Amino acid sequence: MSTSKEYPGNLFVVAAPSGAGKSSLVKALLELDSHVHPSISHTTRAPRGQEKHGREYFFASESEFDAMVASDAFVEWALVHGNRYGTSKKSIEERIAQGNDVILEIDFQGALQIKAAFANAVLVFVLPPSWDELRSRLERRGEDSSEVIQMRLRNAKAEMAQVHKFDFVIINELFERALFDLKAIAHAQRLKYAAQRRARSETFELLNIP
Ligand code: 5GP
Repeated sequence: MSTSKEYPGNLFVVAAPSGAGKSSLVKALLELDSHVHPSISHTTRAPRGQEKHGREYFFASESEFDAMVASDAFVEWALVHGNRYGTSKKSIEERIAQGNDVILEIDFQGALQIKAAFANAVLVFVLPPSWDELRSRLERRGEDSSEVIQMRLRNAKAEMAQVHKFDFVIINELFERALFDLKAIAHAQRLKYAAQRRARSETFELLNIP
């Protein structure tokens, strides 16, 4: 793992237990905010439905993934629900070095690795409003058997126990409110001194601020 680095672009990391609604939130932010770019992860899991290589994920064999781990190509990787997932350095470093923002939708283990590698990464955890609501969202999705739902709920308990390590918490009760919160987090990062100094340097000059 590399040492902590700082870049001009923001790195937003969104984690949540499955069913909390993080994918829809991230998707909505990407549609609204052209300054934020998604990071495309690598995974050893097989493509589902309409998923395309290079769009949702880069789908890799176990040996391809091993080779990337061996060549230190990942900033973070983790085993999630039995498959490996990783964020390549290539998918984020160039963008944030150029001052663009990148958003990662990854699990909590990966989020914590990202924080160790990038001091300024902004970690956001999305919580459901209640256990009943989480369960009924997983059931409504209709994607999983009741055993898988039970497993996801057990995993959710362990994942949510990590929330105190995150910078921000969004409670996804009303989607529009949660989206507003996510936009507010992104916006607040851009109002920080260093970001404003870069983005509005002419104003600082006009004001003769050294
Ligand atoms: P799915 O297979 O349903 O697309 O994703 C399963 C889980 O893996 C989700 O929690 C997702 O956020 C997480 N995930 C996706 N990409 C990455 C990644 O690059 N790194 C880590 N650590 N987790 C990831």
